[in-house]
Amino acid sequence: MTDNTRALHDLREALSQSGCPVCRLVEVDTGRYLDNLLWENVNDPGLRREIRRARGFCREHTRMLASRPGASLGLALIARDVWGEIQHATETVRLPAPKARQTRAADIAAGLLARLAPQGECPACVYARAMEDLYLDVLLGHLLGEDGLLAAYQASEGLCLPHFRQALARVRDGAVYAALVGAQRAAGQRRLAELDEFIRKNDYRFRDEPWGRERDAWRRALTALVGGLMP
Ligand SMILES: [Zn+2]
Ligand SMILES: [Zn+2]
Repeated sequence: MTDNTRALHDLREALSQSGCPVCRLVEVDTGRYLDNLLWENVNDPGLRREIRRARGFCREHTRMLASRPGASLGLALIARDVWGEIQHATETVRLPAPKARQTRAADIAAGLLARLAPQGECPACVYARAMEDLYLDVLLGHLLGEDGLLAAYQASEGLCLPHFRQALARVRDGAVYAALVGAQRAAGQRRLAELDEFIRKNDYRFRDEPWGRERDAWRRALTALVGGLMP
């Protein structure tokens, strides 16, 4: 199965579930990437250099890593590595003479600041972005035509706002653009209706009415503004 065939299959599946399909798939893929990193590649010198240059992982991927079971040794090795480099920079830097003028001290501090700054991006972010690009290209490439993804997309909750924007930046075809925006409009109307229903049912006059899908509409709507899986 090629990457594109697998992505098409997985997108169809993810469109039938709640939330942004790209976020859902990238989360699963990134989890697999991090597992693989911890269990297979933790001693890979090239990867370790990338992690050191990035000064570790970003906050989101650090949380994901720290919550993986049995990861403590791999993460200790990574943390040792990055902190070793930070320590080296901090210990080898020149210190200003006790009577140094303020500007001189600021220059020396700027030197250490530059050495502590990340020289590269979080490797998991780089991976996740490549996967986002793949899914968005497959979505746009297979939206129209017989057995295309449009019907599933129209019935879904749509893309989150960040992925909708990324999709718009990648679209190259007028008919695909119209289909993309049409599906997002339909999803947006349903979202607004659910939010209105949630707000209405919080009125004491209607509080005995049973809850439906609108029960967690606010949580899904907030998540769709920033992307990622629902907390
Ligand atoms: Zn998304
Ligand atoms: Zn990251």
